[in-house]
Amino acid sequence: MSLKAVTYCKQYRRANVHTVGCNFKCKGCPYISNKESTHQELGIEQVKNALKSLNVKWVHFVGGEPTLCQNLGTIATFCHEELDVKTKIGHSMGWNMPPDDIDAMHITIKAYSDKIHKEYTGVSNSRVLDHFRRIYDQGITATANTVFIPNLIDTDEVENIARFIAEVDPQIPFHIIGYMPVQGMPWHSPDQREMEDVKQTAEKYLEEVTTSCFQSLNEYHQKVKENPVYQSVRVA
Ligand code: SF4
Repeated sequence: MSLKAVTYCKQYRRANVHTVGCNFKCKGCPYISNKESTHQELGIEQVKNALKSLNVKWVHFVGGEPTLCQNLGTIATFCHEELDVKTKIGHSMGWNMPPDDIDAMHITIKAYSDKIHKEYTGVSNSRVLDHFRRIYDQGITATANTVFIPNLIDTDEVENIARFIAEVDPQIPFHIIGYMPVQGMPWHSPDQREMEDVKQTAEKYLEEVTTSCFQSLNEYHQKVKENPVYQSVRVA
């Protein structure tokens, strides 16, 4: 799995290192149509040089699944030792444990029930749940999310995920993403009442629960464009 791009958000002094590849096969993946798209691979020196040229406070790794990228550890160590900046895996299914020199990690728990997890993603969740606990125990700042899909990853399932996270630490922030309809899939996007209900259910266990829900990738990209937190330019 390889390195694809480096982007930079000047306002928040955050660089994003984009990796390619994901070993999950989620039925509702919004990126399914471009998962095999070709890209120019970046060399590790190109990434290091790009990061060196920026005024950064944080370096985020995003995928796909960044823990599949064999250069992740080298770049994270470079960030700590040469740049003296913090590192975060900004999006991961926790498939592999993070390497040394990762300060924070945002982990998606797709489902608590192994049966539903396998049905939806094609893989078991046992290592994801195990890694989640171990990542927290190692002192890495953990945050979590899930995708709420009525009639599949339903309120009961989200409740089980919230309970599991609370057993690790009820102060771990948890974000619930409403399912975005994907062509050919039978599920609908949750309405406002369903989003409020699932949020209240998770709040029985966790102190910090937030939600978001978009009807299409276009709507999502538009919101991202308007939010300064996500505005960034490509630098490599
Ligand atoms: S984990 Fe994310 S990128 Fe990978 S298949 Fe699932 S939705 Fe798509």
